[in-house]
Amino acid sequence: METKILVINAGSSSLKYQLIDMNGEKVLAKGICDRIGPGGHIKHVTADGRKYEADVPMPTHAEAFDAFMSAMTGEEYGVIRSLDEITAVGHRIVQGGAIFKESCLVNEKVIEDIEALGELAPLHNPAHVLGIRACIRCLGDKVPQVVVFDTSFHATMPPKAYMFALPYEYYTKYQVRKYGAHGTSHRYVSGRCAELIGKKGLRIVTCHLGNGCSISAVKDGVCIDTTMGLTPLDGLMMGTRSGAVDPSAILYLMDKEGLTPAQMSDILNKKSGALAISGVSNDNRDICEAAFAGNERAALSRDMQNYQIEKYIGAFAVAMGGLDAIVFTGGIGENSWETRGDVCHDLGCFGVKINDELNRGTRGKEVELSTPDSPVRVFIIPTEEELMIARDTLALLKQ
Ligand code: ADP
Repeated sequence: METKILVINAGSSSLKYQLIDMNGEKVLAKGICDRIGPGGHIKHVTADGRKYEADVPMPTHAEAFDAFMSAMTGEEYGVIRSLDEITAVGHRIVQGGAIFKESCLVNEKVIEDIEALGELAPLHNPAHVLGIRACIRCLGDKVPQVVVFDTSFHATMPPKAYMFALPYEYYTKYQVRKYGAHGTSHRYVSGRCAELIGKKGLRIVTCHLGNGCSISAVKDGVCIDTTMGLTPLDGLMMGTRSGAVDPSAILYLMDKEGLTPAQMSDILNKKSGALAISGVSNDNRDICEAAFAGNERAALSRDMQNYQIEKYIGAFAVAMGGLDAIVFTGGIGENSWETRGDVCHDLGCFGVKINDELNRGTRGKEVELSTPDSPVRVFIIPTEEELMIARDTLALLKQ
């Protein structure tokens, strides 16, 4: 039987999509609609390389849906004859809070709960709901829809890892705790790593390093800790996000500069991280280039980021009672030999040894970097979040 799953990642002004044929898990077409609201632009590409790009008015997510669905079914850029060929839809959802411990089928109550969790993810959850509603409008309510949460993989963390040492009533009243993010990516790469090693009971540290960066401790397939917190701002410094900072520094600055919470949030999320330290860019490639050309702040930014990655790997090795493997994924993890090389060399106390030549020459490919005598195995595993969403969607259909 033909099974084609549409995967949707709806943001506030953008919508990414992939149509995956589950027979062989092949991507048939993918694309992005952005500038939803004030404008509208679509970029669509098919597996056989046909590309379509155009400005199309998209006042709401509904028009974005119409635009990519007509590309998908049209003569020139189409990959299916009609929308009836879409078996089901899987949606990426950033925040599932304490409610959604796993992926589930969409119904009205699920939509309401995702909307209510918008308080914890104001930039994301409301946009996901717009995506789900636009999808129902376009495909009708007969096509099953599934929601897959960035937080679910972290739902197994014990309270000692997810609680903040704040007055307890803030946890009971507002559910303020660590939820983590990038869970679908950590789940995919840790599962794939265990498959490659072919053993159970592994202690794996997964490093998702992209514009957003997070590290997870995965013990025997179960996440026991992660670096992101209530929101994806915590943990490692990132492209434009600060990562963990002494909370007093933030209060002090708000007072000194007369900043509102919204202004401070903007600074912490968009004007901090590698961009702020390097003064060059939020992009790892530009920062490496500047650092190697002698720019001291760019070098400091690299040093800080690498140091933080190494510290969390060490902390999570202790949390798991040992370390069997490290996985690098995300734009930086998959592509930057510089970051992987520096981090692995600084992990000498764990005996980590990698093949430097292989590391230098590998970009965006699944590869084992560690040498045969390294007690800790090191892998690059390109993440496949959309495929995981499609797999979950299919699994729920079969239940
Ligand atoms: P997002 O978190 O938005 O999904 P990505 O996972 O695409 O981001 O990662 C973006 C980061 O990956 C950027 O900092 C970019 O510089 C880095 N990156 C992408 N390609 C390379 C490369 N060839 N070498 C080094 N860094 C790269």
